[in-house]
Amino acid sequence: MSKFEKKARAKREAAALLPSLFGKAREFRKKGEISKFKALSKKISYLKNKHKLNVPLSEKRHTCKNCRCILIPGLNCRVRARDGFLVAYCLECRRYSKLKLSN
Ligand SMILES: [Zn+2]
Repeated sequence: MSKFEKKARAKREAAALLPSLFGKAREFRKKGEISKFKALSKKISYLKNKHKLNVPLSEKRHTCKNCRCILIPGLNCRVRARDGFLVAYCLECRRYSKLKLSN
């Protein structure tokens, strides 16, 4: 197997793994297992950056841009629509992240 095939295979595997990781991270946060939740959030961020994966917009909106945590409205974040932006206040790191809403 060539170097490029190996890389493509790893990317495919990571892309297949990502949706289940989002679900698992949410479950851990809802159960209150914060350390496992943070470790999974970190892993998701690592896989995204390493393999240059495209994350669906729905997941992108629910990720803190500062601490890379998965945001769950009502649990660890506050979400408001303000001036055409979706503004999420992360309660883990106490920072705002903005995402422009499409028309
Ligand atoms: Zn945060």
